[in-house]
Amino acid sequence: MSVIIERLAIIGVGLIGGSFARALREAGVVKTIVGIGRSSANLEEALSLGIVDEITSDAVAGVSGAQMVFISVPVCSIPSVVAEIAPALSCGCIVTDGGSVKASIVMECERLMPPGCFFVGGHPIAGTEHSGAAASFATLYKGKRCILTPTERTDAAALELVNRLWLITGAEVCSMEPGHHDRIFAEISHLPHVVAYALVHAVGTADVEGENVLSYTAGGFRDFTRIASSDPVMWRDIALMNRQALLKSIDGFSASLAELRQRIDNSDPDGLAEFFTIAKQFRDGIL
Ligand code: NAP
Repeated sequence: MSVIIERLAIIGVGLIGGSFARALREAGVVKTIVGIGRSSANLEEALSLGIVDEITSDAVAGVSGAQMVFISVPVCSIPSVVAEIAPALSCGCIVTDGGSVKASIVMECERLMPPGCFFVGGHPIAGTEHSGAAASFATLYKGKRCILTPTERTDAAALELVNRLWLITGAEVCSMEPGHHDRIFAEISHLPHVVAYALVHAVGTADVEGENVLSYTAGGFRDFTRIASSDPVMWRDIALMNRQALLKSIDGFSASLAELRQRIDNSDPDGLAEFFTIAKQFRDGIL
């Protein structure tokens, strides 16, 4: 493919930013990629792995001359990063992100764009529990969904270009209103992470006659709790930024758990079998 972007800046060259860079690099659609971050160790690694061509910890200098800036840092840092770089953006620059929460990021970043620059919110529905440049890989987005969250303020040409780049990574792109996105992902992603963290926390601190209960873990516990190995800062930010929707999801889950508890307490075999059968049908249906 021929070059579409002369200079792409990636702020946060971790799993998401690094994989975006690798996929576009492999497709040959970006000429120069500058990696921006805080720690020199991660940036040096990104450079030595060939994910980026240049590195800097100076975001303002790094975005200079870029046609596109992709931001993939923990969600609470995205608006402040955009506020920092906004005065240094070249006219026509498109700023987009991969953050897991959208409504407040989109509203704030649209407001921060200088005239002639455009913001497009995005969220790739792909990931692993690993972090940093070394965890990234070019095929992360292949066959996965990427949700773009345009508003009435979104520039049509900017949206089209961001859409095109995600398609090149192999993602299937769809669009959604930012608030709707946050309510859906509170249920399907943020709640499961919170439950996995809570479960490991509860079992890890359980006291069964002084035994280390976690030493008995096997496949089931490990499968269910894989996502509790995800980066705590990333999930702290998601929980804080999607607070309202997440609290509603936790309340729904608590009611479901309380219902299950009640059926166990009542020694209700039919009620338990019914509860488990309904859940199994939902689970089998998604496979
Ligand atoms: P990651 O692997 O930890 O990468 C984040 C990178 O951002 C790190 O390399 C970190 O490097 C850098 N960074 C952190 N704060 C920064 C700041 N204030 N300024 C500049 N650089 C900063 O995390 P990730 O998994 O790629 O997640 C990045 C974003 O993608 C998050 O918004 C997350 O919600 C979203 N997302 C994640 C997943 C997933 O499954 N992991 C999936 C979809 C979307 P330094 O510490 O060296 O600065």
